[in-house]
Amino acid sequence: MRATRWQMTGPGAPFAAAEFEPVAGADEVVVAVAGCGICHTDLGFYYDGVRTNHPLPLSLGHEISGWVVACGRGAESWQGRSVIVAAVIPCGECDACRRGREAICAQQKMPGNDLHGGFATHVVVPARGLCPVDVAGLAAVGLDLAGASVVADAVTTPYQAITQAGLGAGDFAIINGVGGVGGYCAQIAAAFGATVVAIDVNDDKLAALPDTAAALRINARGAAPRELKASIQTFAKARGLRDRSEWTIFECSGTRAGQETAFGLLNHGATLAVVGFTMDKVEVRLSNLMAFHARALGNWGCAPRLYPQALELVLTGRVRVAPFIERRPLEEIDAVFDAVHRGQFERRAVLVPGLPQS
Ligand SMILES: [Zn+2]
Ligand SMILES: [Zn+2]
Repeated sequence: MRATRWQMTGPGAPFAAAEFEPVAGADEVVVAVAGCGICHTDLGFYYDGVRTNHPLPLSLGHEISGWVVACGRGAESWQGRSVIVAAVIPCGECDACRRGREAICAQQKMPGNDLHGGFATHVVVPARGLCPVDVAGLAAVGLDLAGASVVADAVTTPYQAITQAGLGAGDFAIINGVGGVGGYCAQIAAAFGATVVAIDVNDDKLAALPDTAAALRINARGAAPRELKASIQTFAKARGLRDRSEWTIFECSGTRAGQETAFGLLNHGATLAVVGFTMDKVEVRLSNLMAFHARALGNWGCAPRLYPQALELVLTGRVRVAPFIERRPLEEIDAVFDAVHRGQFERRAVLVPGLPQS
């Protein structure tokens, strides 16, 4: 089998194409990549000096979909199937995994970090990280398998954050930062029956959200924290919702300003879910958690067992993906990374092997 991966050799250095022979070991499969989304985390590795667990050279990319073309011993049942590869693949056997706490599995493997990732024609991954995909069902909602790659991270990560927060019908959810992950967070929260307030500093991102995803959209640029909180309270009260307590706040911007904004929205019994990542530090009065009897929850990836449920939201049209992705040839990875880094993509860039070059 002929396979090529585009490897990171050093921070900011051109990606180097390397041919390799993909071989599936026991309980592993070879996936022919349909598409692999470019995530903020990839940019962190490539531009910001965040270290990968696997030494360089390494192909990045953990938002992978494709077709199983070869199986190792014990994984034969996957042959020929269309799949999404979980961005974080827990071992499934340790104490944490057995208790359903896969996110903290110490033996977990992340493609594009612990092992070669999806900016390649093929990847070799543990079969326990696979989620089967109904391609005909995708087509019915205007999506192909390459486009469904974003389910591997951008959709499932907020899905787990929302289930972990216990969000449900009648709840009031505030999503801070609605590009990429946050946009899906808003859509999923609405699908769970919550009333959603979307906050961003970019009007285009707010406007791009589907009508059903947000009951109120606020541009927080230049708004004082008190004003922001007051306007949300007014809205909640007018809707007959809890206006002074138990807000569920999802911080998806991964910026210092966004984290400060999110923390400032805490009220009695509130839940703050930290979904976005930044290396920056923020100054907060941590005791507000105590005084408000509030809680803060981190979220790392998504357990593979939750992927079918998250995918179901996409297949039923309750979470729309097609308008938020842009396909680019994998062979143009250098130019696409540069453009994403410069903020020239409004939508998620998905690298597709063999796509006709522009
Ligand atoms: Zn990611
Ligand atoms: Zn484990």
